[in-house]
Amino acid sequence: MLIGGAVTVGAGAAMFHEELGRLWWRVPGIDKQRTNGEVDHTGAQWIAASEANLRYADRPADFTVDRIVVHVTEGSYATAVRVFRDPLHAAAAHYVIRGKDGHIAQMARELDVAFHAGNREYNERSIGIEHEGFVDKPETLTDVMYRSSARLAADICARYGIPVDRKHIIGHNEVPGATHTDPGRHWDWDKYMRLVRAAAKKRAKSAAS
Ligand SMILES: [Zn+2]
Repeated sequence: MLIGGAVTVGAGAAMFHEELGRLWWRVPGIDKQRTNGEVDHTGAQWIAASEANLRYADRPADFTVDRIVVHVTEGSYATAVRVFRDPLHAAAAHYVIRGKDGHIAQMARELDVAFHAGNREYNERSIGIEHEGFVDKPETLTDVMYRSSARLAADICARYGIPVDRKHIIGHNEVPGATHTDPGRHWDWDKYMRLVRAAAKKRAKSAAS
């Protein structure tokens, strides 16, 4: 069933159908119902990346999601959001996190393959998180951003059963064939992994209670 029985009778159905045709009806094998504005991480703000910067998919049904790739933008949050919306940019990440307050923009659905890792296989298996900042300016990598990102990473790990370790949470520079150096030498992996583990623990506890 292509659209999950969501089409009912009436004018609402016609509108829904038109939206399907425009956005994803054309993609074979993709049957998950999508709602405009829906996010995968509670509290994230939906800002759609250009369709040209991602590939519609059906993860984790078609590709196993087992990696998180950590990036630093080398530019402002606003610039990252702008270029990911630009169809000529040829890249986008699933998430962009703002430095001053840890605000999270989700720009691609996790079920889709966003072009962020510079490696087809790693794009297909991973979720990309961009952090506002510069690799040679450690002061741009704020505590509030680390914490917000850690909660996001813990959430992703829990939802896909990804182990919280450095084999599965990697830097862009650790992607095979990477030409990028981000998140750079000032990215504090010890601190980040500590925060992700703590957030994962907290999440498991609240889920159990
Ligand atoms: Zn990167």
